Amino acid sequence: MSVPERPTAAELDAADPLARFRDEFEIPDGIYLVGNSLGAIPRRARAYVNTELDRWGSLGVEGHFTGDLAWKDYHELVSEQLARLVGSRPDEVVAMNALTVNLHLLMISFYRPTTTRHKILIEAHAFPSDHFAAESQIRQRGFDPATSLITVAPRSGEETLRNEDILSAIREHCDSLALVMLPGVQYYTGQALPMADIAAAAHEVGAHVGFDLAHAAGNIELSLHDWGVDFAAWCSYKYLNSGPGGVAGAFVHQRHIDDQSIPKLVGWWGTNPETRFAMATEFDAMPTVESWQLSNAPILPLAALRASLDIIDEAGGISALRAKSLQQIEFFDRRLAESLGGRVVNLTPTAFAERGCQFALQVTSGNGREVFEALEHARVFCDWREPDVIRAAPVPLYNSFDDIDRFVNILEEQVA
Ligand SMILES: *Cc1c(COP(=O)(O)O)cnc(C)c1O
Repeated sequence: MSVPERPTAAELDAADPLARFRDEFEIPDGIYLVGNSLGAIPRRARAYVNTELDRWGSLGVEGHFTGDLAWKDYHELVSEQLARLVGSRPDEVVAMNALTVNLHLLMISFYRPTTTRHKILIEAHAFPSDHFAAESQIRQRGFDPATSLITVAPRSGEETLRNEDILSAIREHCDSLALVMLPGVQYYTGQALPMADIAAAAHEVGAHVGFDLAHAAGNIELSLHDWGVDFAAWCSYKYLNSGPGGVAGAFVHQRHIDDQSIPKLVGWWGTNPETRFAMATEFDAMPTVESWQLSNAPILPLAALRASLDIIDEAGGISALRAKSLQQIEFFDRRLAESLGGRVVNLTPTAFAERGCQFALQVTSGNGREVFEALEHARVFCDWREPDVIRAAPVPLYNSFDDIDRFVNILEEQVA
């Protein structure tokens, strides 16, 4: 269906090939624009979780070994799906733990400071958990964050990072840089960073590079393998809709997987499954990223994650989601300009390549916090991030163009 040049929300929704996927989700009453914080529940998550509760009831411990859903291998059911989302081989990704835990495990492997090369580069406004993780890794290895933790910040008067500033920070610290750890999409501004260029620059100076993909996985297209990224980690409760505290993901590039010289914290779930239950104490690393697994996998949260990943596949995967997302971004930009021109400023970069679906809206006329509270009162689900930003993220899998339109109308009323 073709739509006119300045299509209305109704016209865009009518022409949207993904519109039917909204019914796959239960969405709280109101306008739900916080899939960047907690994705909506896929209706079928209940069935997937119930299947495992029923198998637990009928099979008991035999559930670990019985059938296609045997719990001992259950985490592998999502490897191909996660690989498609992050652009990797299936043996480079695993669903395990939580995001910050995975950052720590991967820093144990890829932050290997020496007296001359000991610095970690992060962003000055990193998500606190990432900041804490990097700082504590530095201390843990006997270094001092005052000299080993370096940051890159937006220029004064600017809100987002300049790509050239990131690359020049990497070059500036050159021989002393051990690790670059940056987000794929920045949690506050929604800025997408040039991951391929960052990876290349880090490798050029001999540093490792890892990405926190909390706001990138399921939001933008990624090619971790081809970009040569050393490691990455992400949570699944944001754009991957796995539910609160859902199982996180981890990526390690294939070239590191068989390298037994890489230090690693290990547990029984990383050892060869053929001998795992023989209870041998000689660690025989699995020939995949699964060798980074410590514990047996949490089946109920994984079942919920599978429900969402199956829907994403049915919708055509991340390229189809991103195609709709770009249309939604364009529509959102247009509606903001039409209705709110100047009174609300979006801090997110305007170029498609530099943003995901999240908007970081700053109210410039009036009190942002009050506007946010009024939005909440009107049952708009968005969020407030100190000091002065309202984050709103239309998620292509279940948000309509009408959601965006109504959001802008309500915002306009509040700002007026
Ligand atoms: C959401 C988010 C986290 C949360 O970490 P958890 O370990 O899942 O609690 C960490 N870092 C970033 C960048 C995030 O966006």
